[in-house]
Formats: sequence, structure tokens, C-alpha cells
Amino acid sequence: MKKIVALLAALLVSSTLFAQSIPSVAASYRPTLLKRFLTYTTYNSQSSDDMDITPEQIETAKKLFAEIEKFGFQAMLTPHYYIYVAVPSNIDKEIPVLGFSCHYDSTPDINGQNIKAQVIEKYDGKPIVLKNGHVIDFNSDPYLKQMIGKTVVTSDGTTMLSADDKAGVSVMVTLLQTLAEHPQMKHGPLQFVITPNEDVGRSADYIDETPYNPDIAFDFDGGFDGEVVVGNFNAEKVIYQVQGINGHQSHAAHNGYKNAWKPACELGVACARDEWLPNNSDGDQGYAELHHMNMANGKTNLAELDFRLRSFKQQEIEQWKTYAQTQADVIAKKYGVKIERQVFKQYQNVAEHIHPQARQVVERSFARAKVTPRFLEERAGTTASMFVTKGLVGAYTIFTGQNNPHNFTEWLSEEDMFRSYLVAMIMLDEVSKLTATEKTEIARLHPAER
Ligand SMILES: [Zn+2]
Repeated sequence: MKKIVALLAALLVSSTLFAQSIPSVAASYRPTLLKRFLTYTTYNSQSSDDMDITPEQIETAKKLFAEIEKFGFQAMLTPHYYIYVAVPSNIDKEIPVLGFSCHYDSTPDINGQNIKAQVIEKYDGKPIVLKNGHVIDFNSDPYLKQMIGKTVVTSDGTTMLSADDKAGVSVMVTLLQTLAEHPQMKHGPLQFVITPNEDVGRSADYIDETPYNPDIAFDFDGGFDGEVVVGNFNAEKVIYQVQGINGHQSHAAHNGYKNAWKPACELGVACARDEWLPNNSDGDQGYAELHHMNMANGKTNLAELDFRLRSFKQQEIEQWKTYAQTQADVIAKKYGVKIERQVFKQYQNVAEHIHPQARQVVERSFARAKVTPRFLEERAGTTASMFVTKGLVGAYTIFTGQNNPHNFTEWLSEEDMFRSYLVAMIMLDEVSKLTATEKTEIARLHPAER
């Protein structure tokens, strides 16, 4: 009996010890993390607006998959070059499925072939002069001041660095390696997705909810210094098509001719009121604008109006649609034309689809990693916000150390990338403390999809 008590006590001590040792396990992977990042910057991986997938992305996806496969988890490379990894729970209770996402493509907007990263150790505070006259200094980047004595990575100035999002991919793959080499680390069920085509706005196009449908999720594609994107616009495109009636204008009084453009203009003016214009929108305000008007199919009796709606509150978009439809009905009747509507959901505010404990997980994980979170709301969309339109749970976007993405002066804070990895490790532990009750709660938020 005494023996058993001693054994239990020893077990308790060792598990507590392990919980305390997450930072030391993480620290032992810090050189690996940087080395991995530098290797990934040598992978050409630019996406393209004109191609479903580029040959460079295919090659990168295959290299990443070969590396990840060796960790021994259930991994999959799909025909659309998405990489999925599932890590089974090693805890004997029901807890939410935790999802992590990132993207391996880089932007086509700037030269990103044959990147030569340079590592500046113990940064001395002087301006960093790159080729072609590019300079990174405290004026352009005040955050650089906090990097004195630390490690900074830049390109040579002839290309971008592609820390967006090779930093996030490095964090995720190093996390998988850590899990493979430390099976005693406790965690619930985990799902990872590494996508192509994020920088051309198409990373959600072929997302498959069989391998990736977590209850609580985080996207590792954020900026620097503890940045967390906790909200973004809801975005919809609404097209109104006004159909007149053909005929010669000279005999319109008798032949039933109806022009489509006068009613179209009236609808445009009514639905893009001055107070709703983007010019009059800032902070947490949304906007509605008439984005453009089209002569549909080259026919003069077909006028198309394309409205762009943005709001942090979906309810405001619904109110606009109700109002616009009332206007359309009145105008159609007044001019004797037909007005039809089409609605396209582009992305949704992650905050309106988030797991109720996501904020708490961030706050506790950041506190344990000694990182002060900087919560931001983006007046745009995020990858996670596009996943929401596919029925997935919303995700906050977590910092990875990226600075100046899509730029010759792009740079990485090695310390931030490491802290991002540490936060991810602690998140596994924090999510494993959540209970099945909270899982039920989120199920109610998504009655249609689940
Ligand atoms: Zn990105």
C-alpha cells in the first residue's frame, strides 16, 4: 500500500513537473524552429491569380508533406494540395477538438523566387541596409527598437522574405515534431490544415470538413508582438439585375419599350446613401457602396448593380438587404420593369462564430508564455473568416513574428516566432482543461452545420 501511495505521489510530481516544463521543452526546439524557417524560405511557393495551383506550390506541398509524414501521425495530401494532419487525444475525457491552420503559399505581388534570407544575430540597432536601396530602420519600423540584442531575419532586398506565412508553417510543423517526440505531452484531439492559395484569397475554396472541422480553432498567420485578430468584417456582394423591355424608343408609347437604366440609377441612389458610403466609415462602422454598374450581356435593356456590403455586425447587413428589397419592389412597380437579386457571402466575422472559451484560452496561454496580447479588429477579411462561410467555427489569428508582409523590407522577429510556438504548445494544455459542456454550447451556435 505504502508503495502504491509513493508511486502515485511520484506520478503526480512528474506530471506537475511536465506541466511546468513546457517552456523548457519549447526552448530545446528554438534552434530547430529557426533552421526550419530558413529552409522553408528557400521553397518557391508563390500562388497566382490566374492558376488553380502553381507548380511551385505543388512542389512545396510535396516537400512539406514528406517531412510531416515522418512524424507518424495520420496525414493527408489532397488532390488540391491541402495538407491535413490528425493527432489523436491522449486524455481520457471528452474535450473540444482543437484546430490549427496556416498557409504555405506566398504572395504573387512581389518577387519571391530564390529567396536568400539573412540572419542578423544580436541586432545592434543600426539601419538594416538591403540591396536595391531598401532600408529597414526605426522610422519605418518602430518595433525594430525592441529587437536590439535579438535575432532578426530579412531577405537580401531583391525578394520578399515569405515569413507570411512560412513563420506560421514553421511553428505548426515544429509543434507536430514536438508532439511526435514527446508523446507524454497531454492534449485532446488535434486537427491541422496547411493550405495553398491564401494570398490570392482562395484558401477556403477546397477546405474539406471531414479532416478539418474543429470545435475551437486558431489561425497562425498573424503579425508581431502578441497581435491577435479577434474580429473582422462580414462581407457580402449583392447584385440587382434590372430587366427592361426591348423595342424602338421612337415608338415606346405604343410598343411597350422600357428602359432599364433610369430605374437602376434610382435603385443605386436609394441603396448607397451618403451616410453608408465607405468614405464615411471608420473604426467599428461598416459600409455599403455601389461598387459598379454593368450592361449585362451587352444588352441595353439589362442593367446590373453590384453592391458591396461590409459590417462587423451581420444584423446590419440583413437590415440593408431588407431595406434594399423594399426599394427594389417600389421602383420595379413604378417603372414596370423586373428587378432580381442575387446574394454572395464572401466572408464572415469570426467573432460571431467563435467558441465561447476561445478568448479565455488566448488570455491564459499568452499569460503563461509571458506575452501581452494586442487584440485587433480587422476592417477586412481573414483566412479564418472565409472558413466560416464553409460552415467551420471562427478562429482568431495569432501573431507569428511577421513584419511588413508582401514587401522587400519584410522581416521576421525570431523571438516572436518562438513565442508564437510556445503559445501554441500552451494552448494544447489550456484547451485540454475545457469540458464537454462547452463543446455542446458551440454546437448550439452552429445548428445547421453540426
Ligand atoms: Zn498570410
